[in-house]
Amino acid sequence: MGEKQRILIVEDEEPIMMGLRENLEVAGYEVLSATTGTDGLAAGLKEHVDLMLLDLMLPGMSGYEVCRELRDNGKQMPIIMLTARQEDFDKLHGFEMGADDYVTKPFSVEELLARVHANLLRGERRKDQNVNHAFGGFILDMEARLLKRMDGDTVVEDITLTKTEFDLLAYFCSNEGKALSRDQVMNDVWGMEYYGTQRSLDSFVASLRHKIEVDSSKPLHILTVHGVGYKFAS
Ligand code: CA
Repeated sequence: MGEKQRILIVEDEEPIMMGLRENLEVAGYEVLSATTGTDGLAAGLKEHVDLMLLDLMLPGMSGYEVCRELRDNGKQMPIIMLTARQEDFDKLHGFEMGADDYVTKPFSVEELLARVHANLLRGERRKDQNVNHAFGGFILDMEARLLKRMDGDTVVEDITLTKTEFDLLAYFCSNEGKALSRDQVMNDVWGMEYYGTQRSLDSFVASLRHKIEVDSSKPLHILTVHGVGYKFAS
């Protein structure tokens, strides 16, 4: 376990900020801080941050606005809102703006640390789902939703995938090495919306093979598991 996880605190009340900083540092986190909404937003956009503690009532911009701006700019770190009991915190509005959780002041250190820990774990899981997949000279770029053919570190070609092809390939990549039944694949990728036949899955696989295999009749990545379905190999 190398680097410390980084927490950005945005809070304009000095005593609360100091208490939070001290407790989080003692618990082993690296702490960044800002005292206005505008500075908090700037830090959240610029710095690597694993989790954010965001006060609701801030000079400059409100916590709601900071949260929404971060999400609009693609930032996915967990955000815990800090609210005061006498403030009129609208929970649903906060979640709509992209907050993950909230604590009401005054809170106990134990409660806050437990929330921080739980949200960091959730953030890690979210990151794993967004991680790019590399296989056989390709990178599946999860954020850009593109398949890139690589030559070392250089992109040689962007390969266009339909939404279904992309979702299917991403699913295969994150289930590498597992034998997956057709039913399982269709359920996991399309869920209840899927009313096609198994043949349609096979035809999506055929078109993907055409795009990623050197010889689609002798696939190296999307392998057929007879009597079961498919297995992905990188
Ligand atoms: Ca405040």
